[in-house]
Parts: sequence; C-alpha cells; structure tokens
Amino acid sequence: MIDEHIPIGKEFLEKIWDQDDRLEEQTDLRIVDLGRKAPALLGAIGTTLSHLDRLASCFYRCHGGDHLIEYLTGRVYSLARASVRLIRFGNYDEALSLIQMIGEIANLIQLFAKSEEDLVAWKSASKSERMNKFGPAAIRRRLEDLGEPARLDRDWYSAICEWATHPMPSTRPNAFNVMGLAAAAPHLQDEGVLVCLNELGKALSCYIVPALSLLPISKENRRAALIESRPLGENLGGITLDRLDAIWSQQRARMHVYH
Ligand SMILES: [Zn+2]
Repeated sequence: MIDEHIPIGKEFLEKIWDQDDRLEEQTDLRIVDLGRKAPALLGAIGTTLSHLDRLASCFYRCHGGDHLIEYLTGRVYSLARASVRLIRFGNYDEALSLIQMIGEIANLIQLFAKSEEDLVAWKSASKSERMNKFGPAAIRRRLEDLGEPARLDRDWYSAICEWATHPMPSTRPNAFNVMGLAAAAPHLQDEGVLVCLNELGKALSCYIVPALSLLPISKENRRAALIESRPLGENLGGITLDRLDAIWSQQRARMHVYH
C-alpha cells in the first residue's frame, strides 16, 4: 500500500471527527469575542429554534388538517439546527447551502401568507407546474407582481449560489479570509462565523413572521413568538456575503496587497 502512514477507513473518519470536536470547542470560545451582536444573535437563533420546534410539533395544540405549514416549519427548524452545527464545525460553505434552502422556504411562505390562492394552487400542482410556477425565481416574480417583493431578494439568493451552492470557476473551499486562500479542511475563520450567523439570522427572521400568520395558534402564543424572535433582526451584523468582497478589497488596499 502506498502512503502507509496516512490513515484510511474508520481510522481516517475518527481523525476528522476529533478535528470537528476541537473546532467546535474553539468556535464556542471565539464567538463570545466576536463583538456584541454575534453572541446575541446566536442566542436569538436559539430562541427562534425553540419556537420553531414547538410550532412544527403542534406543542400548543393540534388543530388537525394537512399540517403542511407545520411540516415546512419542521424542515426549516431542522435545516437551521444543522447549519448551526456546521458553523461550529467550520463548515461555512456547507452551512450557507442549508441557509439558502431556508431562504427558499421563507419566500414560499411569504407568498402563501400574501396569497391563499397560491397556497391552494401549490398544494394541487403537478411536478412540472410546481417547478415552473413555484421555483425560487418564479416565487420572487409572483411576489413582485403582488406588490410585496420577496424579503430575500435575487441578490441574496445569487450571492449564496455563487459562493456556496453551485460549482463555479471561482469556487474556493473554506476560503473565508482576506487573501481568498482555499483549504481542503475546515478551520476557524471569523468572517465565516459572522457571515453564516448573519445570513442564518436573516433567513430565519424572514421565515418566522409569515409562518406565524399561517399557523393555527392562539393570539398570545403568536405574539410571544414574534416578540421573542425580534432580537434576530436587531442583532444582524454588517458582515454579510454580498459585502465580503468589498470589505476584503479595502483590507487588501490598506495592506498594499494587489490580488
Ligand atoms: Zn398537529
């Protein structure tokens, strides 16, 4: 066997699981030092996840029916929970892919909250109708036509597509640093943590408001969830995916580095 000293099989997996565990501990220690908003935002994400968990599982009372909005809420809860885990493992690109999926569901729910007719049409649509009429771009167009532009717009969506979701000539794994240096293995990068927390916070705040208007819960529970989720929006920071290039070019200019 070549490279006998390199672990393979289960031994390799155990090595990288150890790395994941160490990175998770380092990230938890680092987040408290990343300014005032980042730790507060992480706490707000936790509170919102707690509400999504309750809403997805008929915690207050089961009203029967098709549970469609509850199932979508469960999917958002699960995606958000997994993306927090990925952020703590340093898997920022992968977390963003999941955050984009939350964003797609958020825009869909925004449409359903605006137009019950679209919710009814979506439920009975064939596969091809669903792809044509309710794909991410079609949903944004429909919301625009209804006079309520998607809260997660084309720029938000395409920034994540280009960075994390679709293979591009510019794809660089684990490159959340001013010099754009790629690495095979995830590692702790402040910009990665901040971008992911901010984008996740934004996507969740865009989901929970319309979802609460559609879910069959009491006025008091709806109000409590809305009020307790407010810190999500209040603690969003300025390091977002669409601003990274500008932030890094300024930093490089200060360092007199041309790239
Ligand atoms: Zn139920």
